[in-house]
Amino acid sequence: MTAIRKVLIVGGGTAGWMTAAALAKALPREVAITLIESEQIGTVGVGEATIPPINTFNQMLGLDEAAFMRATQASFKLAIEFVDWMGPDHRYLHPFGGFGLDIEALKFHQIWLRALHEGWAPPIDAFNLSAQASHLGRFSLPSRDPGQVMSSLKYAFHFDAGLYAKHLRAYAEQRGVARFEGKVAGVAQHGETGFVESVTLEDGRTLEADLFVDCSGFRGLLIEQTLKAGYDDWSHWLPNDRAVAMPCETGGDGLTPYTRATADAAGWRWRIALQHRTGNGYVYSSADISDDEALARLRATLDGPALAEPNFLRFQAGRRRQAWIKNVVAIGLSSGFLEPLESTSIHLIQAGITKLLALFPDKGFYPVEIAEYNRLTAQQVELIRDFIILHFKANARTEPYWVRAREMAIPETLQRKIDLFAASGRLFQSDYDLFAEPSWVAVLLGQGVVPRRHDPLVDALDDEVVRGQLSRLSALIRRTAESLPTHDAFIARYCAAS
Ligand code: FAD
Repeated sequence: MTAIRKVLIVGGGTAGWMTAAALAKALPREVAITLIESEQIGTVGVGEATIPPINTFNQMLGLDEAAFMRATQASFKLAIEFVDWMGPDHRYLHPFGGFGLDIEALKFHQIWLRALHEGWAPPIDAFNLSAQASHLGRFSLPSRDPGQVMSSLKYAFHFDAGLYAKHLRAYAEQRGVARFEGKVAGVAQHGETGFVESVTLEDGRTLEADLFVDCSGFRGLLIEQTLKAGYDDWSHWLPNDRAVAMPCETGGDGLTPYTRATADAAGWRWRIALQHRTGNGYVYSSADISDDEALARLRATLDGPALAEPNFLRFQAGRRRQAWIKNVVAIGLSSGFLEPLESTSIHLIQAGITKLLALFPDKGFYPVEIAEYNRLTAQQVELIRDFIILHFKANARTEPYWVRAREMAIPETLQRKIDLFAASGRLFQSDYDLFAEPSWVAVLLGQGVVPRRHDPLVDALDDEVVRGQLSRLSALIRRTAESLPTHDAFIARYCAAS
């Protein structure tokens, strides 16, 4: 076992540069970090919506938030709005943050369910500040004082992932990361152990390392093409295998502080407003709609004139069976892909980096640590997979694609969760689930899974107390949201400040 002295990151997309920046920040200076990227191959070129843990990543790096937002043309994201998933003109929000306040040990959503069953409940998102600010198009930074309602506002960003990678590249290079431009044409492995020893570029240059991070995108240059990790194919649950992306000028609802995900005949469309443009895409199943039709659907729903040619992408839902094999760790699309419905890919890059640092093989490679990395990765991705499948399973649309989704058998882990919630509103958060209870509550209710009963302990609460508490709370949240500046005005002021 020898100490890790050289790390080589293969790939310079969002995954490569996030990894380079984080390792440059966290590892001692003696560890040399090199990144190879190929302009000829390019990057996937999409990826605009994030979730709140991105703040932890940016803070770990010590990024200045306003400078980062200027550099990436970012807007704030408070929620995802799901439109038409339950049929025409239906919409609901999956907001960040929790709903209301628990009373003693009783969960807020159970108290709300009692009100629902009694016939007087306002919509549940009246009890979430991020949701109310979304409805009004308002934003301000949350308060750090946990006693203030404003502390409950949770946010992430929409940004141009290409610009984010560029911003992180500058950060990483300033901290000593060496960058090579070129295409990897060959990989050399140790004759006995199979450990990767070096990669050779097309021009003949050879780069050696102790640890390789495979950020080469869908192709999985090291983890799959070299080490044959294998792939768990989940397309029987998530049949979407294509996307077409096309940015346009911002129009329509303007700079909304939320992502919109609109169900369509054979998939769904995203709309993400950034400062300089609006990102749009249609994620679809090629068995149900042609590329031309999908593009026509997308074009017909753009806010304004298109700003680029369509970018068609192909993928297969699933995950690499092992994300870490020998001295290769796959991070980003090389480790698998789940469609971007809940903006989890960039988060999974962050989660991969965090686990790699927590289990960093500074003195060499121990099977128990590699196995732990792979176990945690599998658990994390499977929980996200279930959450995404829920959106398709519990739909109320009539097209064949949607009828099939409603009728499909789903993972037993998800079926159990839906059945339990449908019976009594009970939910138990699994270890390592990225999506906490409020997210499950928002999407389950939004997709029409309404519990038949509520927790009987809630019935012991005094009626006046419950009514008083709910009406005070929703009024306070509404007033607070109304007092915030508009999202546009906040961004203009925040990003202008030097
Ligand atoms: P890539 O961007 O493909 O980068 C691969 C890198 O490897 C490139 O630099 C390439 O040049 C290099 N490379 C490959 N082969 C070689 C070689 N032989 N030699 C040298 N270099 C090589 N994620 C989100 O979190 N939010 C979203 O809203 C979101 N939307 C998405 C929408 C779609 C339709 C898709 C497909 C993905 C979306 N994602 C989203 C996922 C997100 O785009 C990716 O997770 C992210 O961009 C990371 O990609 P990557 O860096 O792993 O791969």
